[in-house]
Amino acid sequence: MEFVVQKYGGTSVGSIERIKLVADHVAATRAQGVNVVVVVSAMGEQTDALIAMAQALSADPSRRELDMLLTSGERVTMALLSIALSERGLKCVSLTGSQSGILTDENHGNARIQKILGDRIRQGLSGGSIVIVAGFQGVSPKTKEVTTLGRGGSDLSAVALAAVLGAGRCELYKDVEGVFTADPRLVPGARKIASLPWYAMSELAWAGAGVLHARAAHVASRFGLTVEIRSSFKPHLRGTVVEPSTESDVAMSIDKNGMEQAIVHAITCKQHMCLLDVEASQDAAGKMHAGILELLWHHGEAPVINQQVSGRLRLMVSEKAAQVLKEALATGRLGEKPMSVNLTLAGTAAVGVIGNGFLQNPEQVAEAMAAAQKAGHVLLWDVRNQVLTIGVKDSEAAAVVKSLHDALITDH
Ligand code: ASP
Ligand code: MG
Repeated sequence: MEFVVQKYGGTSVGSIERIKLVADHVAATRAQGVNVVVVVSAMGEQTDALIAMAQALSADPSRRELDMLLTSGERVTMALLSIALSERGLKCVSLTGSQSGILTDENHGNARIQKILGDRIRQGLSGGSIVIVAGFQGVSPKTKEVTTLGRGGSDLSAVALAAVLGAGRCELYKDVEGVFTADPRLVPGARKIASLPWYAMSELAWAGAGVLHARAAHVASRFGLTVEIRSSFKPHLRGTVVEPSTESDVAMSIDKNGMEQAIVHAITCKQHMCLLDVEASQDAAGKMHAGILELLWHHGEAPVINQQVSGRLRLMVSEKAAQVLKEALATGRLGEKPMSVNLTLAGTAAVGVIGNGFLQNPEQVAEAMAAAQKAGHVLLWDVRNQVLTIGVKDSEAAAVVKSLHDALITDH
């Protein structure tokens, strides 16, 4: 029997009315003789609301208790969807991450999945049930505590379940129609990408595109999955197919500059970033640098720029993470002695041009830089083969994204 994993994000299940529509769509899928595992997020902005409640009680709530609190959001949705499906005469069962055997490490707030047992899901499926799994959560076999997978982690739950259970399809239903060449709110001419390779999706997600959880992209690419990102408001519309290796439709068009032209898939941006400089001794720098990356990871972040030259570290991180790092370094938690940190360029946006082949096409890089300069003041930039990062003021970000999109995507 064909088997699909469908994931519905917060907006898609944001009200009772929306949950009814999701139930209709799941029921229609089931009526085609397909086995379904549904992964759900918390309703609407429920996760933010729960965090706000905790923060109203404490400036620094325990990460364990936060996970207990936040996992309740997805639990509400899964039970409501199950009730709605039963009402349609369908056999179904809802399961928490822990009941599903989603085993993680013990890092509360950003736990990594170690493995998925999935026994109860398989049991449910073989008994003819639609199985609804609470996204964004698991359990640590070491501490026996409930954990969460990082903000937006239901994508990761869905992709990981599809990989382990051997689903033929994985569909992620969202409040957007797919992956766009830029945020359509910033660039009205941005278009939906029909298909995209995983490396590009992964870079895009790390560079700030909120459409998919970055760690979900890694798991999907590692297990060779094909995933479709679709709109829950228009569930019958084709979305964006993200697949192991094919280049996107943009990439396949051989334009005026020939076959070896660098490919540009999309432009994205991360705002409220800053530059953090730490002066360490040559000997201590390596260990401290590793400690910084670990602490950032603990908070669900990775630096956009990450360099070390003769004991001097330079990272571009969010302003929020910079404060955490500054404090940790000042108290000596990350090195042999307390270190002082220099924070500069607050209010910077890291604009990311995601593509492939930039290193073999300096003319294309020059064209991108010219387009960025035309719309703003470039504060710093960095190029790798698949990502060009350009730092500009937050206030100039929208214009720079648009200018880059016009030059590198619309005009090509
Ligand atoms: N509800 C969680 C969040 O808002 C997980 C998710 O939506 O995927 O981060
Ligand atoms: Mg959510």
